Amino acid sequence: MKPFDYARASRPAQAVDLVASRDEAAFIAGGTELTNLMKDGVLAPGLVVDVSGLPLSDIELHEGRLRIGATARMRQVADHPMVRERFPVISEALLASASPQVRNRAAIGGNLLQRTRCGYYRDVGSPCNRREPGSGCPAIDGQNRQHAILGGSDHCIAVHPSDLAVALSALDSVVLTLGPDGRRSIALKDLHRLPGDTPHRETVLRHGEMITGLEIPESRAARNSRYLKLRDRASFEFAVVSVAAALTLRGRVVTDVRLAFGGIAPRPWRSAAAERALRDQPLTDATVAAAGRALVRDAEPREHNAFKVELVQRALADILSDLGGNR
Ligand code: SF4
Repeated sequence: MKPFDYARASRPAQAVDLVASRDEAAFIAGGTELTNLMKDGVLAPGLVVDVSGLPLSDIELHEGRLRIGATARMRQVADHPMVRERFPVISEALLASASPQVRNRAAIGGNLLQRTRCGYYRDVGSPCNRREPGSGCPAIDGQNRQHAILGGSDHCIAVHPSDLAVALSALDSVVLTLGPDGRRSIALKDLHRLPGDTPHRETVLRHGEMITGLEIPESRAARNSRYLKLRDRASFEFAVVSVAAALTLRGRVVTDVRLAFGGIAPRPWRSAAAERALRDQPLTDATVAAAGRALVRDAEPREHNAFKVELVQRALADILSDLGGNR
């Protein structure tokens, strides 16, 4: 690990000023992601600004919106009774993430900004457009079992790793930030960029802009929400495919449905096409199958990940069966 300077911020504005003042500066909260990347030589910030002590860890319901501070720990949020009752998909996504030790430590804001688990990205001996722009993408013709079937480009087909981001995307969540130009509210679905020809630009955040919290609107659908994660081993593993779903029925007719997917795209993949196929329709095998087909209509599988096209449709059918009360 390369030597670096360390500063501990006591106010959000101070943290922003410190990071904005140096090109090679980064925020750190739980440290469960950045320190790994620093040890592996993937990232080498010259200054690390510790925001873990900032007063940004509250979890509260205010005027119909759940507010979660960026430095709240994964475990705090997952175990919160109000989150479990009114936004179960959030709790389930967090409990399906990482290990108990990591959940005790990792902060919510940092969770959303995790870097991809693409093995080439984390191996500094490999070329990688995301880590080193213009060096190439060995995954396209190499090992791509874990990679994207939607939203990739000729420059990068990595998938986004955060389970929480998928759940938040399904619930129309908003990310609150503070940066050198002031405060912003960013729809979660707009936070992460698709790779295009600039995969190294992963989010719309500007240098020095810090996530301060999240807002998630309450809804009937959010109360009837679930997270299903399929992975190669039962714990401490990233998704091969995941689905976050929220559903409201009148009788057997779908009146509200929100669907987001993980493990298949470079960002949490909200599928308006799949939702359209279900909305105002009876929840039947036929409409669920139509939603699955709409989801993968533009899929571009690679040599080793074509199985995800079928797997994600089966995962969707399974979670809708569960939410629809067919079990
Ligand atoms: Fe790098 Fe993306 Fe290619 Fe992986 S898929 S090697 S992260 S450019």
